[in-house]
Amino acid sequence: MADYTEPQEMKLIRGTAEEIAADFGPEYWREMEEAGEFSEEFWSELAEAGFHGLLIPEEYGGAGMGMQEMGVAMETLCKEGVGMAGCWYLVVNACMAAVGIREHGTEEQKEEFLPGIADGGEMFCMGITEPDAGTNTLNAETFAERDGDGWRVNGKKCWITFSDESDYIVLVTRTTPADEVDRATDGITLLIVGLDEDGVDVEPIPKHGMNYSNSCEVFLDDVHVPEGRVLGEEGDGWWALVDTLNPERIAFSAAATGIGKLAADSAVEYTNDREVFGQPVGAHQGVQFPVTEGYAKLETAAVMRDKAAWLYDNGEDCAYETNVAKAVAVEAGIETVYHAMQAYGGWGYAREYDVERWWREINLTRLAPVTQQMAWNHLAQEIGFPKSY
Ligand SMILES: Cc1cc2nc3c(=O)[nH]c(=O)nc-3n(C[C@H](O)[C@H](O)[C@H](O)COP(=O)(O)OP(=O)(O)OC[C@H]3O[C@@H](n4cnc5c(N)ncnc54)[C@H](O)[C@@H]3O)c2cc1C
Repeated sequence: MADYTEPQEMKLIRGTAEEIAADFGPEYWREMEEAGEFSEEFWSELAEAGFHGLLIPEEYGGAGMGMQEMGVAMETLCKEGVGMAGCWYLVVNACMAAVGIREHGTEEQKEEFLPGIADGGEMFCMGITEPDAGTNTLNAETFAERDGDGWRVNGKKCWITFSDESDYIVLVTRTTPADEVDRATDGITLLIVGLDEDGVDVEPIPKHGMNYSNSCEVFLDDVHVPEGRVLGEEGDGWWALVDTLNPERIAFSAAATGIGKLAADSAVEYTNDREVFGQPVGAHQGVQFPVTEGYAKLETAAVMRDKAAWLYDNGEDCAYETNVAKAVAVEAGIETVYHAMQAYGGWGYAREYDVERWWREINLTRLAPVTQQMAWNHLAQEIGFPKSY
């Protein structure tokens, strides 16, 4: 039988996330979004709370915890008022880059980079997506060729979140052309590239929401990368990359349940107050049932996320559970925010009530980090259907 007693340290993390969220509520993010500003204060607050270092071993300045704790931290931040930023400011740097270096870095790389990630002093972004490869990362064309002791990189990435703020990018490159390898997964190499190197150009992509951060095109023109910057094995970086994708999906699952609950809680408060036909609009089952049904699905998705995170933290295969958690949390999150917005009536369309912003935020989770179709593709295969992609 599973034991659902919440450990003391999980209560501590939840409490810390609640305290942070109390200072960074919906109004704050509405203003940051409208100003299009990156939140240095929130970033520093996460560092002070130790959240950037949750997944980093203590010997490198972190807390030595796992994705279960990170999931709770993210869901709580999102739910208590931070919205998507509660996941967004942690997922790339503190989850993906930290885990990639923790699991696949050399001792030198761990010593050089992990303490800076943990204390918030250094920021990484993840350079996976390319305009012509899209969802099929194996078609990446950004190429790194040997240049003396190091590498020379040419190529183009798109949608790279935080690349305009980051110090480094974990860059997915090909070091052997796709038509010269036995398996499509061969010939991929991950490089840690300084974003201040000559030949790097970063251009933000104007986007639909979450404008308290930029996602950018990154152009690499003859960029020199010194020796010692390969993350994982040269030519075999695909598997190191895959290792970072499960934490990313678990994180987005936490974001979806957190944003869904935030919108639901907000709709409950609003509709308990708003009277139209002589009673609160929240008293109508037509208003309360859809939000409640969504909420129940969010609770279920959160349990699956916790299972996926437990498997991940214990070194077990977690791909199936992670895709279930991500896909189901996203469907439930979208459903809940949709009905929460409806419960607000016309005011759901007004910026001042934030639910329209959460609607824009939740919709990202069906497109990234993996689209819903690709999550269903993986799951369909897992339950026995032929591979369809
Ligand atoms: C705000 C934002 C931030 C992002 N941040 C980052 C980041 O930091 N780093 C990074 O590397 N990337 C990032 N991404 C990129 C994101 O991961 C990709 O946009 C996503 O993986 C989809 O790729 P694509 O846009 O090229 O879609 P495409 O691959 O062009 O797909 C288009 C549509 O076709 C569907 N489709 C394609 N093939 C199949 C198939 N075989 N079966 C069924 N359906 C299929 C897809 O699901 C999708 O709906 C970000 C994206 C956004 C919007």
